[in-house]
Amino acid sequence: MPTTIGAHRDPVKLVNPDGETHAWNCGACGSVWMVTDTDSNDPEDYARRCCAVMICECGEKASMHRTACDACISKGEAEKEKALFDKAEKIPWKEYDGEMVYSERQEYYPDVDTMVDSEDEPPEEPPRWAWACTPLKMKFDAGDLVRGKLEDDEHHEEAYVGDDGIKELQAFLDKWCEKHPVESFFPDYTRVVICDDIVDERLADQGLDEDEVSEGK
Ligand SMILES: [Zn+2]
Ligand SMILES: [Zn+2]
Repeated sequence: MPTTIGAHRDPVKLVNPDGETHAWNCGACGSVWMVTDTDSNDPEDYARRCCAVMICECGEKASMHRTACDACISKGEAEKEKALFDKAEKIPWKEYDGEMVYSERQEYYPDVDTMVDSEDEPPEEPPRWAWACTPLKMKFDAGDLVRGKLEDDEHHEEAYVGDDGIKELQAFLDKWCEKHPVESFFPDYTRVVICDDIVDERLADQGLDEDEVSEGK
């Protein structure tokens, strides 16, 4: 368990005129934690930990507002990613029909080819895999929209729009979304796109280039 150093950062109690404690202040930065009636957390503890310097399990000072140091945080993240990778379904890039991939370095690319070419900044080898991505298209549900509107505006209790009306609106909304498409991609941590062969090919090409250069001398 991380320990705290720095006694000058004791939290400050904020008291109502009637003597009730209503909040705790971080002694260093002044952030406030309210005392709530339904208190499942401990505002005094939050205030104490706010700007306190924590000691990471490895003995180094932890990063600001964290309980571990940067090195251990990124090591932990790498281990988590490795565990996800091991479990994930492996798809050869030729069989992947998604429109986007998400690289280990947290960039989106339209395909692994582009990724391999973009992430070959020397001296590292290009990545040999990427997360698959799932698309999300903007859509509206006519029924939800209408029900929400009737409720928000507090229409009378029997107010409703019949199935035909909902269908008509849905058709219009679908058409509108097609005309003004909004699509986003999210990494799918259960599927991995493998591109070993592309990287090997690139490396082989580079090897050839070097040979050509040396022959030319
Ligand atoms: Zn603070
Ligand atoms: Zn550490």
